[in-house]
Amino acid sequence: MSEHLCDSLYDTVGHVQINWQFILDDKQRPTISGQVQTQLHMLCHRCLTPVTISINVKVALVVFTEEPSQYEELLPDYEAIVLPNKPVPLSNLIENELILAIPIVAKHEVCPSNEFQMQDEDIEDVEDVDKPSDNPFSMLEKLSKS
Ligand SMILES: [Zn+2]
Repeated sequence: MSEHLCDSLYDTVGHVQINWQFILDDKQRPTISGQVQTQLHMLCHRCLTPVTISINVKVALVVFTEEPSQYEELLPDYEAIVLPNKPVPLSNLIENELILAIPIVAKHEVCPSNEFQMQDEDIEDVEDVDKPSDNPFSMLEKLSKS
């Protein structure tokens, strides 16, 4: 996975399953259709612990090598994608689809209990919350005493 997608993720563990078909449509344009499924780990904005986000998106793209004119007709449910007229790594296409699919703000449906849990309206104050367990020096202190 490239850095662009990883910026949104808590970690990069996981697999992406794709089931794509590459066929020409009735106007001889290349199309990509199928499904992308994966589970990503993001940070919950409410309790700041990892949350697993299941992604299962349908992909239906008509590939153009330059910006299509507005008169280009697309099959229902298909979207245009503009790609340079040279090989494009499949992972780039998958990444694009995942970036579109991931939520902007990830949240647990029900957060696990967490002493630092914030109410939604307090999220902006999260930076100011004292978190003693996050102090790297508390660990050093323990080590030096043992
Ligand atoms: Zn949560």
